[in-house]
Amino acid sequence: MIEPVSDMTIWFVLGTRPEAVKLAPVILSCKKTSFLKPLVIYTSQHQEMGHRFLELFGLQAHYTLPPPPAGRSLCALTTHILAMLDNQFKKGVPDCTIVQGDTTSALCGSLVSFYHRVPVAHVEAGLRTFAPFHPFPEEMNRTIISRIAHLHFAPTPVAFTNLLREGIDRHTIDITGNTVVDALDLITRQGGSFEDKTLREEWEGDFDQAVTVTVHRRESWGGGVRRVALALQELTGRFTRTRFFFSVHPNPAIRREIEDILRDVEGIVLLEPLGYRDFIQLLSRSSLVISDSGGVQEEAPSLGVPVVITREHTERPEVIDAGWGILAGTNSKKIVEAASGYLEGRSEVGHKTMLFGDGRASERIMYRMAEYFGFSDRLQSPPPPPWP
Ligand code: UDP
Repeated sequence: MIEPVSDMTIWFVLGTRPEAVKLAPVILSCKKTSFLKPLVIYTSQHQEMGHRFLELFGLQAHYTLPPPPAGRSLCALTTHILAMLDNQFKKGVPDCTIVQGDTTSALCGSLVSFYHRVPVAHVEAGLRTFAPFHPFPEEMNRTIISRIAHLHFAPTPVAFTNLLREGIDRHTIDITGNTVVDALDLITRQGGSFEDKTLREEWEGDFDQAVTVTVHRRESWGGGVRRVALALQELTGRFTRTRFFFSVHPNPAIRREIEDILRDVEGIVLLEPLGYRDFIQLLSRSSLVISDSGGVQEEAPSLGVPVVITREHTERPEVIDAGWGILAGTNSKKIVEAASGYLEGRSEVGHKTMLFGDGRASERIMYRMAEYFGFSDRLQSPPPPPWP
């Protein structure tokens, strides 16, 4: 524990859409205290997207770093973010850095903090597939972050056990629930109709059920994305009263593959990336989601929607174990079979449970941070554990 002297400055280093969603509730929780001073350092890994997501929660970046060069390789992206962050830290360091998940920004945020001897807290720690290239490079990113971090906020008991197995001191790990559930609570409270024009108009169309689709993982580029698109083409032929709402990732390579196959297919609606409120509304009104996204695997069961996971491995085995998801990979036949099972009611769906927490993860994280800095006497007792 560090002796409290004055306000403690915490830098939240983030640069993508999922980090903005999952850290916003933690930033808001810290802001409610009089002694934790959260500041957002935006790495611009996703140039505009993250800013829009922060704004939705009434937040903005305090420092926005220059964006990486276009068409960048992973190495170019990493070296750029490292250098930009290093410049920022040279101007003055925080008392602690918080990173989330497994992005390049999170990896760079923790590494630069380490080089400047700043302690790191890791939100959503301990997720593992144990396959170094799945997802790529995220599995390696999060494993490295666990070696660097001082505090580990494990979202589930499975993640906690993974960290223990890697020799992380159990006293530095807290099981908090996933902050995505907190974000969902905040967003669903905002209500409102669809903002995206295409989505609003298409939703008025004549169909019986909706399926949400996303695909973006690096390991699916060149081949995998195409096979997901072919599966969707076949599904539209089988389920003529179903509309497939596909939020197409802005990456031009992914976009081209999807548009080539699905542009004029009846039953498919190709959408620009949606704002978080629109996306969550669409998801909650869907009968099924087909996705390779990590966050969507958590959001879907939390909203009572089953998910066909178009990946070979998942770091969220809770979804499969509880009957909320099927791991189909990018094999078109398996995707069609898994999706048909859900849409025809043949596959059993799990009971609606708190798979990923109770919406109080950010309070637990804030409490632990306060304790770490020696301020816990200024708070009431912490929330009870998310699971008994
Ligand atoms: N999302 C969104 N709009 C979209 C597609 C996704 O707001 O059109 C949200 C989704 O709800 C989830 C997050 O983006 O919270 C996931 O981002 P992504 O799939 O890029 O990253 P991952 O979770 O796989 O790291």
